[in-house]
Formats: sequence, C-alpha cells, structure tokens
Amino acid sequence: MTTENCIFCKIISGEIPAQLVAESEHAIAFNDISPQQPVHVLIVPREHHANVTELALANPLVMQDVMQLGAKVSQMLTEGSHRFTFNTGAAAGQTVFHVHGHIMSKTPKTNG
Ligand code: AMP
Ligand code: ZN
Repeated sequence: MTTENCIFCKIISGEIPAQLVAESEHAIAFNDISPQQPVHVLIVPREHHANVTELALANPLVMQDVMQLGAKVSQMLTEGSHRFTFNTGAAAGQTVFHVHGHIMSKTPKTNG
C-alpha cells in the first residue's frame, strides 16, 4: 500500500474525518472506528511506514514521539492499566498497513 491510497494518510491530511483525541509534532491519536474495549485509541505517526518494525528502524525520533503520545493518551483516558500493541503483518492481524499502536483499556478514567 502506498501513501496515495492509505486510509490513515487520508485521516492525517483531513480528507477522511476521525475523532481526534490528541496530537504531537509527529503523530496523531484518534478513536478506533470499531472499539474492542471501552478505551480504544489509535496512535498514528504522520509519516507513512508500513509497520512498527520499519518505523523503528527508519526513524527512531518519530518512534519515540509515537510512544510518548501513547503514554499521554493512556494517562488522559485510563486509570493506568492498558495495552499498547502494534499488530505487525497480516498473519498477526494487521489490516491497515500504516503503522499504528492500539491503546486499549477496560478501565476508563473516572471523574472524582
Ligand atoms: P490493525 O488490525 O492493527 O491493522 O488495526 C486497524 C484498526 O483500524 C482496526 O481496529 C480498525 O477498527 C481501525 N480503523 C479502520 N478504519 C478506521 C477509520 N476510518 N477510523 C478509525 N479507525 C479505523
Ligand atoms: Zn499512510
């Protein structure tokens, strides 16, 4: 998949809408369209790489930014317990081939 027909590149450019949760210099965070847990946010670098292996090797600075944005979102939206996962390759369940981390939590932050 190239950047031209990549759904996450289209979300980043604003061509396709998404529910933005947070953003940083190199990444954006938006709600998953089909949430698997009460908190389910995708952390997506603005730069297109097919998967986390390619991103980590090509651009550790952007990888760091992705991890920090995930940490920020987990603190914003959860009580602390969460998973931060990167499906890598079709056989591991990856369906969108623009690297993204899933922040998933069963314990959303409660007010008060
Ligand atoms: P993965 O299976 O790890 O590639 O995850 C892809 C995720 O992207 C799935 O959880 C989908 O529900 C989610 N997704 C696909 N299209 C959109 C979209 N337009 N907006 C938000 N999330 C999406
Ligand atoms: Zn892309």
